[in-house]
Amino acid sequence: MSPAYDVIVIGLGGMGSAAAHHLSARGARVLGLEKYGPVHDRGSSHGGSRITRQSYFEDPAYVPLLLRAYELYDDLERATGQEIATLCGGVMVGRPDSRPVAGSLRSAREWDLPHEMLDAAEIRRRFPTLAPADDEVALFEAKAGLLRPENTVAAHLRLAGRQGADLRFEEPMTRWEPYGEGVRVHTARHSYTAGQLVICPGAWAPELLADLGVRVTVERQVMYWFQPGGGTGPYRPERHPVYIWEDAAGTQVYGFPAIDGPEGGAKVAFFRRESVPTTPDTIDRTVREEEVRTMADQVSGLLPDLPGRFLKAATCMYATTPDEHFVIARHPAHPESVTVACGFSGHGFKFVPVVGEILADLALTGATAHPIGLFDPARLTGRA
Ligand SMILES: Cc1cc2nc3c(=O)[nH]c(=O)nc-3n(C[C@H](O)[C@H](O)[C@H](O)COP(=O)(O)OP(=O)(O)OC[C@H]3O[C@@H](n4cnc5c(N)ncnc54)[C@H](O)[C@@H]3O)c2cc1C
Repeated sequence: MSPAYDVIVIGLGGMGSAAAHHLSARGARVLGLEKYGPVHDRGSSHGGSRITRQSYFEDPAYVPLLLRAYELYDDLERATGQEIATLCGGVMVGRPDSRPVAGSLRSAREWDLPHEMLDAAEIRRRFPTLAPADDEVALFEAKAGLLRPENTVAAHLRLAGRQGADLRFEEPMTRWEPYGEGVRVHTARHSYTAGQLVICPGAWAPELLADLGVRVTVERQVMYWFQPGGGTGPYRPERHPVYIWEDAAGTQVYGFPAIDGPEGGAKVAFFRRESVPTTPDTIDRTVREEEVRTMADQVSGLLPDLPGRFLKAATCMYATTPDEHFVIARHPAHPESVTVACGFSGHGFKFVPVVGEILADLALTGATAHPIGLFDPARLTGRA
């Protein structure tokens, strides 16, 4: 008896919804299983906005994937009419040797990406809300901006559904096993068979991919919205860039223009600030006053007017690998039938559609033309 599906995708968050779209677009019979409802706020793909940029300070190896992700985000907007990307420009601010500045410059030069270097006076002139110290500079990138995560997930789910994918919500996988040439997946309701399994577990990686042998740390991260002292006028996306700022002590903060109307404020957060490891089941979703004060103090070092009035905060999870690079590969223990995508370490959203494309390549052909060598789990498990 042949399996009912070609591919089962576990987790329909950022990565899994993109995989379900790309797989079903190529004619595969897809079953998608998701623990919660469509587009939820219990994982890593919510909160209204995500930064996207091309001059990538984490590693120049990400740049070709970003260029492809930009094309695919365009296609996604066109195919669904969803508003997803706002390319308002972005500044990476800090001392010249800070990671955001030096790393972004390295990628920009290596890949010949359009960018401008601004000194402190020029930053203040171009972006009056920003008050950098005299020894700080910025790399400005016109193509940087923001993505709307909820609309992205909704758009991928809509296309996948239209293309015939069978998407089942509130139906978590409880376990799976090899079955003939393929796999069998169990939920509390049914079991399903398929030739291929694609696991996109987000912060549930320690639970669903323990056998991978990669240490994924789940981090509680908080997003804060403030109403700027002088109102949101100067923070509108037509006038205001996204920003990542590293201060002299090495602390990184990032933020967005005001995209939620005059009373919606502007969002800001710490980037990869040390936090107590947590789990999806035990994460503390309450944000304390003291945390709000710490955020306000820190961001006022670059945007003195931003923390006028605190509006709200929300928690989210990073699923971080030891070197902060992703894991995207065939499962080393099940290389014929299982593909994994995890450990996006707080910077995966801008890659969502290209990760979907890569996962479809791997599941349907066993290989991809995209450069994913950096994401091989063997680098972290010593199995190379
Ligand atoms: C505060 C914050 C800010 C960020 N900022 C940026 C940014 O500016 N730029 C950027 O590029 N990235 C950013 N990121 C990172 C980015 O959002 C994540 O890398 C990305 O959303 C991860 O997608 P995912 O599919 O791996 O996880 P998720 O979207 O969480 O998807 C995993 C899914 O698996 C489901 N699931 C779990 N267990 C099961 C099961 N047993 N059966 C079925 N389904 C299951 C979950 O319910 C969930 O829907 C940020 C993340 C956070 C938290």
